[in-house]
Amino acid sequence: SGILVEDKIREFFPILHQEVNGKPLAYFDNAATTQKPIQVIEALRKYYELDNSNIHRGAHTLASRSTDYFENTRRLVKEFINAPSSEEVIITKGTTESINLVASTFGRKFIAKGDEIIISTLEHHSNIVPWQLLCEEKGAILKVIPIHDTGELDLVAYRQLLSEKTKLVAVVHASNALGTINPIKEMIQQAHKYGAKFLMDGAQSTAHLDIDVQGLDCDFFAFSAHKVYGPTGVGFLYGKRELLEAMPPYQGGGEMIKEVSFEKTTFNDLPYKFEAGTPNIGDVIAFGEAIKFVNNIGKETIRNHENHLLKHAVERSAEIKGFIPIGTAKAKVSVLSFGINNIHPFDVGLMLDASGIAVRTGHHCTQPLMDRLQVEGTVRASFAVYNTIEEIDRLIESLKRISKRKN
Ligand code: PMP
Repeated sequence: SGILVEDKIREFFPILHQEVNGKPLAYFDNAATTQKPIQVIEALRKYYELDNSNIHRGAHTLASRSTDYFENTRRLVKEFINAPSSEEVIITKGTTESINLVASTFGRKFIAKGDEIIISTLEHHSNIVPWQLLCEEKGAILKVIPIHDTGELDLVAYRQLLSEKTKLVAVVHASNALGTINPIKEMIQQAHKYGAKFLMDGAQSTAHLDIDVQGLDCDFFAFSAHKVYGPTGVGFLYGKRELLEAMPPYQGGGEMIKEVSFEKTTFNDLPYKFEAGTPNIGDVIAFGEAIKFVNNIGKETIRNHENHLLKHAVERSAEIKGFIPIGTAKAKVSVLSFGINNIHPFDVGLMLDASGIAVRTGHHCTQPLMDRLQVEGTVRASFAVYNTIEEIDRLIESLKRISKRKN
């Protein structure tokens, strides 16, 4: 792993080189979506200029080229998360769809009345609502792992929630609202002792942490391309082969079938069984370039850089009067979530925007977590590979000025 040269990295991101409200843009909304390097943008353009064709069925050259590029991204993802095979990598439109796929198909087949599903207080709405819908339909019971005030899961309570009734545990790898990294491997081992399956929401971890679905032994892993320097509208679901094979299809349509007659339809092999209809071909192909971009820098280098930024931000936040850190877990991805005494998070966000600084404010699609922490929302600055110490210093100086008015 090399040493990160920020200026070189930033050259790959055209969007960063602009002024917002008369100030250079400092983009700290990376947990919502990352910016895209030029390689991704050019791959998308090249696809539509040269290769555009529907995949998997044409006899002609463009169709087979598109298919090859599309399937190449699946192979890159397989390696990126260390899945045993490409057939266990389902292409979806995002983490949300990946989780819904499991809820509707695994859920339809394997969850019955009285069964229990465990989630956690840290979950994003997309890892809460699909399970609520399923539990309502099936008469199953949803249990929630509580947290400590630091934003870390209460693992003693988790062990007490697990039982022979537990059929599935669905937990976020890294929290989008606070950054907490959960001790997922240990949690998976404990779930497996009771025969429960484990789904990881990797939306916030895949850009920052090494992902090894075999090493972790998770049963399902979901993530979104757009949080890993790739396009929106593309996501992935890894599932263990025996589970995917036992699960009924998700949506019906073209591509997911072997043979269709009005009497009986047979379904296609993995992964196509779960991929009805024409997918987001160009964006899937372009995501391959995002994976290469991350691999070229190396996750370890990225993580060291982001940890360095976070450490600097946390240290300097002590200079801000009325700064209220929210989420102080020991293990965190590069998320700084906070409040400023006497100022609404939304107003903090607006004032930062006036200085060209982009943060997210609000509940971050984690309303139950906000309720638990007894805050309406937070201000969230989340860092990526292209952020710099100078940008963090600007954030801190702006927050000092903003806070001074009311503290
Ligand atoms: N889970 C987590 C932890 C997230 O941060 C997000 C995106 N904010 C999602 C799930 C949903 O991802 P998407 O909107 O890309 O489907």
